[in-house]
Amino acid sequence: MQRNSKPSFAFCAYIFLAGFPACLALSLAAQQPAKASIVLHAARLLEVETGKMLEPGEILVEGERIQAVGTSVGHPQGAQVIDLGDTTLLPGLIDAHVHLFLHPGAEDLQTVEESVPWRTILAEQAARADLMAGYTAERDMGTEGAGSADSAVRDAINAGLIPGPRLRISGNAIDILGGHEDAIDFNPAQHVLSNADYANTADQIVAVMREQHKEGSSFAKVYETGPDRMVPAGSAPCLGDPVCAQIGLGEEPGDPEFWQFHTPYQYTEAQLEAAVAEAARLDTNVGVHCQGEPAARFAVEAGVASIDHATQLSDGTMQLMKQKHIPAVPTFTIFEYFADHAPTPAAAAREHAMLDYKIHEFRRQVAAGVPMAVGSDVGPFPHGTQAREFELMVKYGMTPLAVLQADYLNGARILTWQNEIGRLKAGYYADIIAVPGNPLDDISVMEHVQFVMKNGEVVRPSGR
Ligand SMILES: [Zn+2]
Repeated sequence: MQRNSKPSFAFCAYIFLAGFPACLALSLAAQQPAKASIVLHAARLLEVETGKMLEPGEILVEGERIQAVGTSVGHPQGAQVIDLGDTTLLPGLIDAHVHLFLHPGAEDLQTVEESVPWRTILAEQAARADLMAGYTAERDMGTEGAGSADSAVRDAINAGLIPGPRLRISGNAIDILGGHEDAIDFNPAQHVLSNADYANTADQIVAVMREQHKEGSSFAKVYETGPDRMVPAGSAPCLGDPVCAQIGLGEEPGDPEFWQFHTPYQYTEAQLEAAVAEAARLDTNVGVHCQGEPAARFAVEAGVASIDHATQLSDGTMQLMKQKHIPAVPTFTIFEYFADHAPTPAAAAREHAMLDYKIHEFRRQVAAGVPMAVGSDVGPFPHGTQAREFELMVKYGMTPLAVLQADYLNGARILTWQNEIGRLKAGYYADIIAVPGNPLDDISVMEHVQFVMKNGEVVRPSGR
């Protein structure tokens, strides 16, 4: 890392006056940290890909990587052995949808009233809370008006200055004029700033992505739908819309409730294709806030990394998601939180109706075999509590193993770290957690992580 090498060069130049050998020794030490060996031992260890539970489980960690995994591994001389007792060893959790730059009360004026420096300090606290809850990797889906401040948080974590997960970051999300996050509930004459960066054409999307890339983004987040509303059955505008007819969206066989939800699209398929092509040029991908049709079809055809929220997916879109292996990220926890914390009874009724619709559609998606990933949309509810998402995905129709595989395997792919994280396997980063009991019997143990290692370093010792 360039950032790491800078301080050591400065120090090297300073002590050069005192003697060259000291400088050389310091440089070598900075580049080659000693490889400490740690052996983790626990009653169980989940092999994520096969679903096999090893009993007991052991992992040999050397430096930042996993060296060996099994029911027993070599114990090199001098290795530190950490016995985690009656727990299950798992890879560090992946949250595919977070907002480090939001805290509870997101529907109030926090993004208007709080300065970016203040929000950055809170984001640092949020990153720490998520890591302590077991999240060692996250995709931050937009700073909501804090611009590229997330690049400073990521870089500080990577430099070891503050604790936090590995991060994929987008800077601001991208939105159309008058779109989902464009301060649409405020008096336009007051010119309240959008929480996203404007782009109204394919060329503008590419220009914004280049600017964000220059400022440190690692992928692009696009708002593709909104505002959302429940409508009387069969009355959704999409049904009579030539755009929807063109892509074959009609009545969904066997699902009379399907068109009780409506959300306008923001970008066309061609515009999303431009975003995906630019992302590919930058070796990355595009994540979309996408609640329903026809936007979901546009996004899947264009080849985005995941469909986030994914409340309404037609049969044809679900088939395409299976074929192209594009996961849905249902984000149940935020829907539940908004329904349970609505400011008025009328708002609570609206939020609950949407959650009920979402649960109904999710069951259809699971039955259709849509690939899933796990993302909570944490931020508007407290950081560090988002493992609730595992419980909700199981409650609404998936098995505990399927949810864990969705989190680790599809999450790692979405974050484009599929050969680095999400498995307990030799060569992968030593991002490891321990949970009490057996998560395949009781998924709620994911909310009680007892031990966290990231990059081979114990960041949360057992029992704290
Ligand atoms: Zn979000």
